[in-house]
Amino acid sequence: MKRIFTRSIMLICAIALSGSPAFSQAQANVPANSFYSGNKKPLEASKYIRLPVGSIEPGGWLKVYLEKQRDGLTGQLVNISAWLQKTDNAWLSADGKGKWGWEEVPYWLKGYGDLAYILNDPAMIKEAKIWIEAILVSQKENGDFGPHSLDRGKQDFWPNMIALYCVQSYYEYTGDKRIIDFMGRYFKYQLTVPDENFLKGYWQGLRSGDNLYSVIWLYNRTGDQALLDLGEKIHRCGTSWNSRYTELVVTGEERKKYPEWWSLLPDWHNVNIAQGFREPAIYSQLSHNPDDVQASYEVFQIIREHFGQVPGGMYGADEMARPGYADPRQAIETCGIVEQMNSNENMLCITGDNFWADHTENVAFNTYPAATMPDFKSLRYLTAPNMVLNDDQNHSPGIDNAGPFLMMNPFSSRCCQHNHGQGWPYYAENLWLATPG
Ligand SMILES: [Zn+2]
Repeated sequence: MKRIFTRSIMLICAIALSGSPAFSQAQANVPANSFYSGNKKPLEASKYIRLPVGSIEPGGWLKVYLEKQRDGLTGQLVNISAWLQKTDNAWLSADGKGKWGWEEVPYWLKGYGDLAYILNDPAMIKEAKIWIEAILVSQKENGDFGPHSLDRGKQDFWPNMIALYCVQSYYEYTGDKRIIDFMGRYFKYQLTVPDENFLKGYWQGLRSGDNLYSVIWLYNRTGDQALLDLGEKIHRCGTSWNSRYTELVVTGEERKKYPEWWSLLPDWHNVNIAQGFREPAIYSQLSHNPDDVQASYEVFQIIREHFGQVPGGMYGADEMARPGYADPRQAIETCGIVEQMNSNENMLCITGDNFWADHTENVAFNTYPAATMPDFKSLRYLTAPNMVLNDDQNHSPGIDNAGPFLMMNPFSSRCCQHNHGQGWPYYAENLWLATPG
């Protein structure tokens, strides 16, 4: 199915369909459709279902913008980024050995691949396949895959969480059944990892919702009951984003510097909040507990209560939110912007609440464009609403962290440089959604 869309069409769809009791009632009485993979029982019924990548063909300004992204940073990064060099790259080696083996390659491939499929661009698809095939080839006998990295002395599952997004999109676009088997073997491996060694580090604990998202994605395609056990295990072992149960990542003397409300969130890194807050809502699809959905709404509110005095949908948190640094001179990281959009798009499908569609556009139309140059050839690490200067100086401690982080630069910085790409392609993919009926 192909659809040409405009923003106004998206708004009409969202306003006309979601949230009304009549609509929910109608949904309950309509048999499940056989075209799109919504939630299989016993998961909570889907409110909306994302269409397979490539189903939606962009038009108008959005197509122009995606083409700028292709001709600019996202499309050309493979030629200039140190982490995407093919020589001795750990993500291209069958045994996972080599350089550049952490988050950067899958971060880039996540946006690049989806951009390639949406634009149906043969050269980009060919490039994406080089990296996808290498990921598949790297799978070991036990089901694990990719370069082996450590987080606080234990296996770091975080880079593979991003790689799963890449192969899922590839499957949706190509129907390549190898992806289903590959993911199934990997998740079997994750089931064998003892709880005390699973998701116990920093990034992987706080971002474990991404792992859970992919497990639910696969369950909806295979119905393998063991995946439900893995879903429970991920929720149990990852860091809790439910503000009633949080355990602070920062403890001891360091912790005493902060006010009482600081203990409401497990961590105050801007990206971790924008990304992590969706986990309880994702888990609610297994738990059927409305409190879990509520927990995600609460984290959204907590960060905005203390750091949300800025326009454009985000919060003035710099790299790490800090008490006393909360006015519109504080900034947001580009990774935070695109992860907020991704979270909102998840939240829209899980809750059916139009708020999340509206908020996605608030961020997409106001904050994200300010973080990149109009030609999409460079970007900033940090962007603030009251930002009169765009220089290469270090503005720490007024701005966190130390470095030339306000400057437009194709190399800024190793995370945003690679992770920015998902923002607009994911936006395009979520403009039309299916309902269970
Ligand atoms: Zn970043």
